[in-house]
Amino acid sequence: MIKAIPSGLSQLLKCHLQFQDVLRVESLLFVNSLDLMDHKCNNKHIRNALYDKRRISPRGKAFWNNNFIDIDWQRAWLLPYRFCINNKIKQVHIKILHNIYVTNSYLSKFLDIENICTFCNNEIESISHLFYQCSFSMNLWTKIERYVLCKTNISVKIDYKSVIVYFEHKNDKINFIVNLFILYGKFHIHKCRVLKIIPNFSRFSLEFVDYIKTLNFINTSKSNKTVDIYNELFEEE
Ligand SMILES: [Zn+2]
Repeated sequence: MIKAIPSGLSQLLKCHLQFQDVLRVESLLFVNSLDLMDHKCNNKHIRNALYDKRRISPRGKAFWNNNFIDIDWQRAWLLPYRFCINNKIKQVHIKILHNIYVTNSYLSKFLDIENICTFCNNEIESISHLFYQCSFSMNLWTKIERYVLCKTNISVKIDYKSVIVYFEHKNDKINFIVNLFILYGKFHIHKCRVLKIIPNFSRFSLEFVDYIKTLNFINTSKSNKTVDIYNELFEEE
């Protein structure tokens, strides 16, 4: 952040402080007694100073706490970082958690558009409806459940809380891969909304298989773990 200040401006401030007639009491650039001009003051120090000064609880937290009990927020925020996925997929999850994902219901407050669901054209398009309650989205989740059951013989329930915050299962591998399916599923629903088409399990699974193929070219611990678990559960006969 400090490096972003043009060197000329920084120099000007230093000279001004150095040669002005009045005694210098403190630097003009202080946050919580932290001297921003100190070369040891990096972005981390500034962020922590601002964070300590004004702790704000994300507004989505209160909203979802009213919908679900016992949300482990640390787990919810960090969920997408367990996987080797692109930022667009992470963003959909994070925007839902913050309750700031833009739906027709929200847009209709400012624009001359209907607040009705893009998929069913029947109900109000809220975040909950779009990603879970809409019959077309529900159909995608049900088919993912059946796919997991068919391939692994393990029954899973992708419920409302699983879709919005995180999925829980005692089997670590199922827990890992189903959470990944859900993150990918939410991204699929997001893309379908933008393209004004209906979510479709066949297309979703083709996209997911392509994603797994790309992971084979990325040799990181996250990508290797995903490929190993996917192959073990879904590919080997
Ligand atoms: Zn709908």
